[in-house]
Amino acid sequence: MEFNRNDVFKLTVVYDEIHKLHRDPYGRHPERPERLDIALNSLRSSPAWSLIKFVSTSEPNINPLLKIHEADYVEFIKLECSKGFHYIDPDTYVNEYTFNVAARFATSAYEVASKAATIGGLWLIMPRPGGHHAGVRGRALGAPTLGFCIFNYAAIAAKTLLEAVRKVLIIDFDAHHGNGTQEVFWYEPNVVHIDIHEGGIYPGTGLVTDVGGSGAEGSKINIPLPAGSGDPQYMWILRKVVEPLVNVFKPEAVVVSAGFDAYVDDPLTDLEITESTYLSIGSYLNNLLKMGIIKSVVTNLEGGYGKGISSGFKSYIEGLVGISKASMDLITPVQPPKELVRDLSKILQRYWGLEL
Ligand SMILES: [Zn+2]
Repeated sequence: MEFNRNDVFKLTVVYDEIHKLHRDPYGRHPERPERLDIALNSLRSSPAWSLIKFVSTSEPNINPLLKIHEADYVEFIKLECSKGFHYIDPDTYVNEYTFNVAARFATSAYEVASKAATIGGLWLIMPRPGGHHAGVRGRALGAPTLGFCIFNYAAIAAKTLLEAVRKVLIIDFDAHHGNGTQEVFWYEPNVVHIDIHEGGIYPGTGLVTDVGGSGAEGSKINIPLPAGSGDPQYMWILRKVVEPLVNVFKPEAVVVSAGFDAYVDDPLTDLEITESTYLSIGSYLNNLLKMGIIKSVVTNLEGGYGKGISSGFKSYIEGLVGISKASMDLITPVQPPKELVRDLSKILQRYWGLEL
């Protein structure tokens, strides 16, 4: 594929084989090491590969964890991991390596965000497990479990960026609500968190009426979609919600919780998006960077348990670095159910002066 070198951005990727130590020895859990092999293999055949610089994780440091998690929770995880492989709740496992693995990626999230704040550009963290369900003290906003997550890398990145810039946007397009991230920034008006997820599934949080805590009302935009929603609905959200909101909020940096489990075949969800949506979101962010509207994008890989982790991930990255452009005209936006649009409309009008 030919592309104009002036239009593309390099991407620094935190990847480390150490993630393979965190695993279910019985191979029954969907959050398994092979996920990252599949994701990386999908990129190897892409022109994006030549734009990637890989770095490994850093020696673990407790301070990045304590930026968002309580010390008691960090100690709890350390203690549980010392007992070897077991489940700490009905769907989250740890083993003797988990603390070290997750703490290394968390430290990298802090370091990457620090660099993004000073030199800008595109950064991607590929941790295992994902992190967006991990809240201040673990299970967040009343969720029944930790949802495979241990430490919240996206939240650490956003918190770190917020020490250097005034306004940070979080986009979470994992099919599950990013309840951990939302809890961390619930009272923070300078972090706008747009979360597009499937309503009615785990973790059961992220209602459209959840707009943020006192002093931060309107900064949390939750878009719970019904099962079966696909590219046309996501395109509507991109055009009608994300773009106008970015134009008025004017973030300097963006953190993306990039899960690929909203892809059409994912075994854990019933959303039905395809490569087109991931490419469109990546291209949109590339364009914001190219126009100088934002300085940096830090992406954290979250879920994805089917084909989304290969072709969806690849499309997002190709859009992000700018080697592939989304053909917006190919997908006609279709609005989600009218009750959701009505509620979203009220929120955008009331807090942002936007008309849907
Ligand atoms: Zn998910």
